[in-house]
Amino acid sequence: MVAEIICVGTELLMGNTVNTNAAFLARGLADLGISVYYQTVVGDNVSRLTDAVHTALDRSDIIITSGGLGPTEDDLTKETVCAAMGIELIEDPHTRQRIEEFFKRFRKGRIVTDNNWKQAMIPKEGFAIDNDNGTAPGIVCEKGEKRAILLPGPPHELKAMFTDKVVPYLAKLQPDRLYSRMIKIAGVGESNVETRILDLIDNQTNPTIAPYAKMGEVHLRITAKASSEEEGMALIEPVAAELRKRFGKAIFTEEESETLEDVVIGMLRERGFSIATAESCTGGLISGRLINVPGASDVLNESYVTYSNEAKERLVGVSHETLLAHGAVSEETAAEMAKGAALAANAEVGLSATGIAGPGGGRPDKPVGLVYIGCSVKGKTEVRRFEFRGSRENNRSHTVQCALILLRDMLLFTVDCI
Ligand code: ATP
Repeated sequence: MVAEIICVGTELLMGNTVNTNAAFLARGLADLGISVYYQTVVGDNVSRLTDAVHTALDRSDIIITSGGLGPTEDDLTKETVCAAMGIELIEDPHTRQRIEEFFKRFRKGRIVTDNNWKQAMIPKEGFAIDNDNGTAPGIVCEKGEKRAILLPGPPHELKAMFTDKVVPYLAKLQPDRLYSRMIKIAGVGESNVETRILDLIDNQTNPTIAPYAKMGEVHLRITAKASSEEEGMALIEPVAAELRKRFGKAIFTEEESETLEDVVIGMLRERGFSIATAESCTGGLISGRLINVPGASDVLNESYVTYSNEAKERLVGVSHETLLAHGAVSEETAAEMAKGAALAANAEVGLSATGIAGPGGGRPDKPVGLVYIGCSVKGKTEVRRFEFRGSRENNRSHTVQCALILLRDMLLFTVDCI
């Protein structure tokens, strides 16, 4: 079954209102296993809305609209959709009574102006959906195999109506639902991941694999259409097992909501390790990511922002000679920063970053984007060199991501330290 979303409102076209209703409806329809191929935004204009409705009904089974159901002149969604579908409007005594009650309870003393009664008109072929949060009811039009579901624009009204009333209605029309599992990979590039799963993607029908690249991570969503969760999971599991075989330890989680920082904090906790950071070009962003995790204070002892050479020497004990011989942005300095942070904070783990975030400050031998990341775990230290090519902000974010990946890699190989 295919649905199409049409959001009505000139304020959406002008950019005055962000179209959050479309995103909410799209997610809800995906959860129901209903495909959405098109979304349209159209202003409060009868002829353009009529065109949009005809086009949508030609290519989809269901249209869902948001907005334009209120009492005013420019609220024309119901009249326009019903006219386009050849459906007559009739007054619904039940809805009329609800509007009267709404005004008695929430608009005491206000006269119900005539235009409010247009909200009591409902399609002859269809029905009204009670609005528990406002006056404009939702509307369902049913004409042959086609359906139009018209929802009010205010997001709190639309969300409640969709979740409580529309989802059960659609679930009956579409018994199959979508079930999905997330596999998150870190430290393997997007094109590398795609190349390694090309055969799976080329032959997929049900389930499907959708890759989604984030900075330094690739998320693979496996989605199956099935009539029950058990059946869905049975379809997903062999594909998940194949991905585990192909990506092994690069998979850092299969939990939808788990982040890389959640994982590394968990690994530190499991091992009984504490951590300290020494940051130059990231200026505290690495510890900021770690502190995203509630209760990170269990494992994060101290963070040093050692931006100047003097601070690198004073706070984390980088030697003067190292700085003179190799410079602040060097493998040697990164190593000493990591070791020194661990030592100064009495932690098992030290994590460091030093680099040239840009846009200025680059030299032929040390270009903008050159970053060294160090990690020291119980005295064993590794430094990785990177050359990022983005903006200052991007280079710093990439550095944080790569620091967490290095930390995870080091912790994976230190299980025997416990
Ligand atoms: P009402 O009964 O309040 O008149 P309505 O169904 O006529 O409701 P609109 O008048 O089109 O809806 O929109 C009401 C308000 O809802 C808008 O001012 C806007 O703040 C919000 N809104 C409308 N459409 C959207 C949308 N697609 N995404 C987010 N918010 C929206």
